[in-house]
Amino acid sequence: MPLRILLLEDEQAIADTLLYALQSEGFEVQHLRLARDALAAFAQQQPALAILDVGLPDGNGFDVCRAMRQTSDLPIIFLTARSEEIDRVLGLELGADDYVSKPFSPREVCARVRAILRRSAGPVQACPVLRLDEGSQRIHGAVGPLPLTRYEYRLLATLLRRPQRIFSRSELMSLVWEDAPETSDRTVDAHVKLLRAKLRDAGLAGEMIQTHRHMGYSLRV
Ligand code: CA
Repeated sequence: MPLRILLLEDEQAIADTLLYALQSEGFEVQHLRLARDALAAFAQQQPALAILDVGLPDGNGFDVCRAMRQTSDLPIIFLTARSEEIDRVLGLELGADDYVSKPFSPREVCARVRAILRRSAGPVQACPVLRLDEGSQRIHGAVGPLPLTRYEYRLLATLLRRPQRIFSRSELMSLVWEDAPETSDRTVDAHVKLLRAKLRDAGLAGEMIQTHRHMGYSLRV
């Protein structure tokens, strides 16, 4: 049986490209334009995954996400406009699994849908070798806390809170370096390199921070 995806998007042209791409991959897609229709459809039958546009004629995708989250932990992807940096952070705080910035390639969306569905097929695992202590802002390995700088801590903690989830570089820049606007992709890459070295120094596998080509980084557990 095909997996059903709920697509909430009021712009027909965007919806059409996604419908075509997702249906070509074998998904069944229910496309809706209004927040209230999406919630009504959701109440009738829960989809395998929801793709929510943020700006809608009768509300916004965040409220739809909140409403869905009251009864379900289904995977949710937001579609956001490129300039809406704040939306990405808010979306993640609301418990979205991912977001895609407009303009996007339908293939990228399909790749993310597949990745999320693969991940959510199993229970989310905690990382067995690292322990995050949010209170003291430390991350412990087998033999004690890792000697991390402030941004190294924030970067590893971000990955550790959501094992397996792929974070794009721009996502990491806004989540980790929110108070340091002068960052670039290279800042992220350089810190990942340093973190891998410190993990190795602590007797752990540096490669537990995985690089995903064209997508970003995740923590393997
Ligand atoms: Ca819209």
